[in-house]
Amino acid sequence: MPSNPLLHFITKVINIEDIKVLNYDFITDDEIVIEIQNQSKVGQCPRCGKTTNKTHQNHWYIVRDIPMSDYQVFLKVNRRQLKCTECQKVFSEKLSFVKSRRTYTKRLANKVIKEVLETDVENAARRNRMSSSEIETILKELESELLKEKPNQIKKLGIDEITQLKGGKNYAAVLVDLETRRPIALLEKRNKAVIAEYLSSLGSEILNQIEEVSIDLWIPYKSLIQEMLPNAQVVADRFHVMKQINQELDARRKQEKRAALKIKNRQEREKKLTGLTHSKYPLLKKKECLSVQEQAQIDLLKKVAPDLGEMYRNKEAIRDIFESPITSDEALDKFLEWTQGAYKLFPKSCRTISRWIDEILAYFDRRTTQGIVEGINQKIKLIKCRAYGLTNFNSFRRRVLLNWYFFC
Ligand SMILES: [Zn+2]
Repeated sequence: MPSNPLLHFITKVINIEDIKVLNYDFITDDEIVIEIQNQSKVGQCPRCGKTTNKTHQNHWYIVRDIPMSDYQVFLKVNRRQLKCTECQKVFSEKLSFVKSRRTYTKRLANKVIKEVLETDVENAARRNRMSSSEIETILKELESELLKEKPNQIKKLGIDEITQLKGGKNYAAVLVDLETRRPIALLEKRNKAVIAEYLSSLGSEILNQIEEVSIDLWIPYKSLIQEMLPNAQVVADRFHVMKQINQELDARRKQEKRAALKIKNRQEREKKLTGLTHSKYPLLKKKECLSVQEQAQIDLLKKVAPDLGEMYRNKEAIRDIFESPITSDEALDKFLEWTQGAYKLFPKSCRTISRWIDEILAYFDRRTTQGIVEGINQKIKLIKCRAYGLTNFNSFRRRVLLNWYFFC
């Protein structure tokens, strides 16, 4: 039996709360088994809640832990079976560092998954001296835990879409709890039936608690929410309103450029093209974020393409409305005024605004946006770029879920 100071030292080094090292053994050149004991003597009966320290049976088993320098580390641990003195139920004690029925510690799982997300399975296997299939097992087990996890309360829900795998034309739907800022589901399709199925799986108790749902400007979502979430106010996401305005502005810029290329007079043509070139990003930017050079570009643009200049002004004006601390009644007046002035240049956006006016105004009462969803979407896009070789939705979803688990 090794001396106590040495065991005390190893206890410090392995650094697991409430654990004492009893012994250790080098079983091969690079494998060490450390025998540990849980210091907490009592457990709580899952049936009646009474605490007990009566051991029914010792149950030793081995779990893999994070490697120590060049050694693979296995922990030999006694997960005692306790017997409740009140109701006689026999149960296994809880160990903080390992989930029940797992053959690896929580911290090993965390380390492995982070490494997989940062690099890939092969790399994580090498670093932890494990096989790829052992790593896959860890990933699958955590994924199934995450998929089983259902939120127990949602007040503000966001629904958005994301383009799926590279080159795909399909959209996946992402559902986010806007208060906790956590994605709650990634669904393979964004159609009404798929979302309805997921929502029903949450149960009516949760659905009835939802007070508002922020959506992009997609009519099927709106009718779905009205059918399934009786207490929810639909809020049109302001970023999606702005997105549509920006799209209409950009379409006009392209159109002006095509027209300019057809101008016969060379001098005139070049003058117009100089004004239009490099105008895409300045046009989409907020006026307060324009650099001096970009501002000059906008000023020039106003001269060669006055309509585009006017559209830029309109775009900034509607953004101002969204950012002003006004009531929904005041906002209604402002939108009416805006649409009257902008109808000729933004016919599509004006039609959208009038179709969604109630939901847009709801934003002014609640100030809910999907800003967070946009952020998550950006992150999913990054994952997609890195998720090299992921050709099916399930492995894509697994990556996304694991990322959320760690980094959101
Ligand atoms: Zn009991």
